Amino acid sequence: MLKLPKILNCRAAAEMSCRRRDGQLSHWDRATLAVHLIICAGCRLMDRQFALMDKAARQLAFLNAGTKTSENDALSPEARKRLKKLIR
Ligand SMILES: [Zn+2]
Repeated sequence: MLKLPKILNCRAAAEMSCRRRDGQLSHWDRATLAVHLIICAGCRLMDRQFALMDKAARQLAFLNAGTKTSENDALSPEARKRLKKLIR
């Protein structure tokens, strides 16, 4: 019997998008997420924003490579809270 991807809600799609970027998603779950991204413009936008944040983080890590990090390089607790709220 043919197994079809389940329909995700947007919250589950956001979680899967994060897990995919961490390399924690199975092939089947990636296919399920891809189906959701085809039909949901909001999640496509979110997925692109996650990609931009990943790229920015990699570039920042590259720029900081070889330099000594300090307390000033870390995000403040308020900034972390705002970022988490934006991601949710
Ligand atoms: Zn969605």
